[in-house]
Amino acid sequence: MTITLINTTKRMKVINLPHDIYCAAAGKCACTAAAGRDGRRIGSSLTLPAGSITPGLDEAVLLEPEVARDVRAGELRVRREAPVPKNTNPSRKTPRRSGRKNER
Ligand SMILES: [Zn+2]
Repeated sequence: MTITLINTTKRMKVINLPHDIYCAAAGKCACTAAAGRDGRRIGSSLTLPAGSITPGLDEAVLLEPEVARDVRAGELRVRREAPVPKNTNPSRKTPRRSGRKNER
């Protein structure tokens, strides 16, 4: 599931997404590089400008302690993006067949 993070403050926030926390929870590696001679991965970071609304984030960001703290403090708002049911999208032009399918 993806979420939207809203920065309600007047400060830009830069959130680091450590591999151990973020990638592990997201189930995929979002690190910018697997660089370093010691093989350590460099986690990606997330920039949230003041007052910004950032959609399409993996909910794994909520596990990042800094994010969790900001959400509790009300500095970040979280909006969960419920998946849009395919059969109720009015903008779809695709004609539906009359037969009923069991759609979940
Ligand atoms: Zn990673």
